[in-house]
Amino acid sequence: MSKSNAAAQAEGAIIVGGGIAGLAMAAALRNIAGVSNIKLLEASSENEFTNIRAGAAAQLGPNGLRALQFITSGDIVQKVIDMGGVLQGNVMMMPGGQSMVIPDTTQSDTGIPQVLVRWGMLRSVLAEQLPQGMILTGAESNVAGYKVSTQNDSEVSLIDATGNPLDMPSTPLIIGADGVKSTFRALVRKCTTNLAEDFDAAGGEDVTYGGRINVKAVVNKSLNEEYKSGHTYAAFAPDGSVAIFAGPAGDGLTYWAISIADSNDVTFLDDIPKGSDEKPEKKNLKEMLLAKLNTLNSDPYIKSVIDLIEQTPTDDVYFQKSQEAKGLGTHSLHSEDGRIVLAGDAAHAFSASYGQAANFALEDAATLAACIRDSENLKDALQDYSKMRLDRCIEMQARSAERAAKAMRGEQAEDVSKWIFQWEIA
Ligand SMILES: Cc1cc2nc3c(=O)[nH]c(=O)nc-3n(C[C@H](O)[C@H](O)[C@H](O)COP(=O)(O)OP(=O)(O)OC[C@H]3O[C@@H](n4cnc5c(N)ncnc54)[C@H](O)[C@@H]3O)c2cc1C
Repeated sequence: MSKSNAAAQAEGAIIVGGGIAGLAMAAALRNIAGVSNIKLLEASSENEFTNIRAGAAAQLGPNGLRALQFITSGDIVQKVIDMGGVLQGNVMMMPGGQSMVIPDTTQSDTGIPQVLVRWGMLRSVLAEQLPQGMILTGAESNVAGYKVSTQNDSEVSLIDATGNPLDMPSTPLIIGADGVKSTFRALVRKCTTNLAEDFDAAGGEDVTYGGRINVKAVVNKSLNEEYKSGHTYAAFAPDGSVAIFAGPAGDGLTYWAISIADSNDVTFLDDIPKGSDEKPEKKNLKEMLLAKLNTLNSDPYIKSVIDLIEQTPTDDVYFQKSQEAKGLGTHSLHSEDGRIVLAGDAAHAFSASYGQAANFALEDAATLAACIRDSENLKDALQDYSKMRLDRCIEMQARSAERAAKAMRGEQAEDVSKWIFQWEIA
């Protein structure tokens, strides 16, 4: 593959974060822009990183699957569709046992389905695209900034809070794919090269909590026969304080998710004893969740989901706070000096109400790689990327927040799925 000047200038790129955004970016830069010398730093251990049961499920739709097709080689998209559960409809469970079926027309509208796929399996499919040695797990997570390399002034070195270089090669470009509380977004937002001692807090400064805890998992069990295959189910407590979802996540696998609203500054997680890592202990989390659901009415659907939760191994239970990065649009997605570019939740964390986080991470990877492929200059490529992504991400954040807020009040927001799905790589 002949390389653009921008791609040659990106040789030696370091990606920080091995979630969907970081892995997709590594695959895209290699396969589309022809950047071969990439290192991906992931804070979690090798064991955590290779756990295909990590997380719960990601929902991929036509936009994310088109991006995935663009950035990967081989028939990965079909593999992902085959390993997940293709969505054919949503069923709203009403109080009193009635239900309303809303067919999912995505496949007939676009030729591409929506699929729910085990999150850890999606991560492993992306990781398999990368050559051995590219991903460094157990990476130090104390990155606080960067400074011009003493050996080569066209490159920078990652530094810790005291300004000392980390034990990493220097790089012309750092891709911040370090999730919601991104250090790199804080560096871009603050127009600085070192967050110093402030680095831990600065990463979350612009993040707001949406007032809901989402507890979820995928379990090796199918929903009972009375539930329609290929359909997701949803029920809401009358006051909107609890939402209960379940759906297909692949052969014999079911996804469940419980969304719990906090009230009066007391969060559901606060009541759960913490382990030595200061995180809520999963055994207690599961018990508290079951206790909460058992206070709701004894509807057969809720009982089926309680059964799924009981059958879920404790370690497989995953929780996420609803969070968004509020400053989206007040800064671009790259630093002015052209050293940092943001991707995935690090670039644009928004509410999960449309299930678009993984799709947008894949779109970011496809877009940045195409910009680098097509530019004569790395700085121009980053500018084009920010321009191409910002408006869409700002709109998605607003629509997701609107949908989440209305759902809490039991109201329906305008469904913008058609706009979301029509994305194509330019
Ligand atoms: C273990 C896990 C399970 C998840 N499961 C689900 C799920 O089931 N459903 C769902 O909708 N979403 C899930 N998510 C979140 C979802 O992946 C994201 O919202 C979305 O896909 C965007 O991904 P991302 O790569 O931008 O961010 P993330 O998925 O948050 O990935 C960021 C990665 O960066 C790493 N990292 C952070 N700081 C550093 C550092 N300083 N140095 C090195 N590495 C660093 C983190 O360990 C993490 O792996 C999960 C995330 C994780 C990390």
